[in-house]
Amino acid sequence: ASYARIKETEPAIKAFLTLNEDNARTEAHALDKRLGDGGEHGLLFGLPAGIKDNIVTEGLLTTCASQFLSNYNPIYSATSARKLKEADAVTIGKLNMDEFAMGGSNENSSFYPTRNPWNTEYVPGGSSGGSAASVAAGQVYFSLGSDTGGSIRQPAAYCGIVGLKPTYGLVSRFGLVAFASSLDQIGPLTKNVEDAAYVLQAIAGYDASDSTSANVEIPDYTAALTGDVKGLRIGVPKEYLGAGIDPRVKEAVMNALKVYESLGATWEEVSLPHTDYAIATYYLLASSEASSNLARFDGVRYGVRADNPDNLIDLYRKSRSQGFGPEVKRRIMLGTYALSSGYYDAYYLKAQKVRTLIKQDFDNVFNQYDLIIGPTAPTPAFRIGEQIGDPLTMYLNDICTIPVSLAGVPAISVPCGTADGLPIGLQIIGKAFDESTVLRAAHAFE
Ligand code: GLN
Repeated sequence: ASYARIKETEPAIKAFLTLNEDNARTEAHALDKRLGDGGEHGLLFGLPAGIKDNIVTEGLLTTCASQFLSNYNPIYSATSARKLKEADAVTIGKLNMDEFAMGGSNENSSFYPTRNPWNTEYVPGGSSGGSAASVAAGQVYFSLGSDTGGSIRQPAAYCGIVGLKPTYGLVSRFGLVAFASSLDQIGPLTKNVEDAAYVLQAIAGYDASDSTSANVEIPDYTAALTGDVKGLRIGVPKEYLGAGIDPRVKEAVMNALKVYESLGATWEEVSLPHTDYAIATYYLLASSEASSNLARFDGVRYGVRADNPDNLIDLYRKSRSQGFGPEVKRRIMLGTYALSSGYYDAYYLKAQKVRTLIKQDFDNVFNQYDLIIGPTAPTPAFRIGEQIGDPLTMYLNDICTIPVSLAGVPAISVPCGTADGLPIGLQIIGKAFDESTVLRAAHAFE
């Protein structure tokens, strides 16, 4: 049924880069047989899943939507992909994205842009745009995405589905092609909050293969879905509802707060005073880390190698010039500059200090409140082509998601309305490792 749906919708949506049809059918038949034999059931038994193409999958092309990795066939699977398999989910294919997860519209895919299922003239968001569109179009039950500065939550908001960025360290990054290692986090994109709880249950947990993996107890996430939010204290940052936020988005968020009031929660305006510095801080830190992480793509170890180099340096230069797209090159240059001697203190180190201040903003609010609620993105989805020529405008779409990533705390986007037929997302942000409260509040609202 999943492949039939893909056949029907994919020409208009273009969510997938690679399909896994033969293997998926074999796996599904094996599960079917096990069911008939009365065998064990994994938590995600038989569910068709899509995986973002920066999560490595053994024997299944993993391109990061880059020409550089257009022939990269991994010899191992990411921990998160392995855990999906162990939970008996079936991998339907690999999903389109902005190249190396750099972008917010899917237009940076070096193959083709994915389109928003609600209106195919609009972007699905990014970088996990394929992950969001495939769920919204009913091609898969759920997908995995990655979120460095908003890449799960923003496309979930634009496509009218649920997207959860877990606390940094909760889900293993082993086998996630690194963009900015101190920010990257894998999480689920689903049709509803209960599904998000199940998928998180399957992929969360300590992994010795990831040095930043957190060794924390994993609760039963579905047990949190009680519908009861009485007495929850919600902080609403004034910085997330001010200038630059579409009035229709603001109205949808205010209506959601009324729903919480009616359910017995309380909310008050709060301040995250360093929000204004978040975008600059993020683009310095994320680009710095990216410039270092992407040094491994040299034309020797992975992916495509340029033809006829004059010597080794020329091989690097040609492979990288041909393999990387314009946004990736922009980030590498920005990051290399920020890390270079003489500029390190002024840019990289300064950004690290501001990151600490941003994290403290969240700590201060969480001293008094259980959750922070605001919009996921300042506007609904925009038209394909509308912002691609203007990177700074594109970067501003992440103003409400980036501070959360810098603080490392969990957040979910749930649908909270529409404007001109395009979905709006409500962002619910929690304390570190308190995914249960985030899911409880999201589920009660939904
Ligand atoms: N849009 C942001 C960027 O381009 C976030 C991307 C992400 O979370 N992977 O960096």
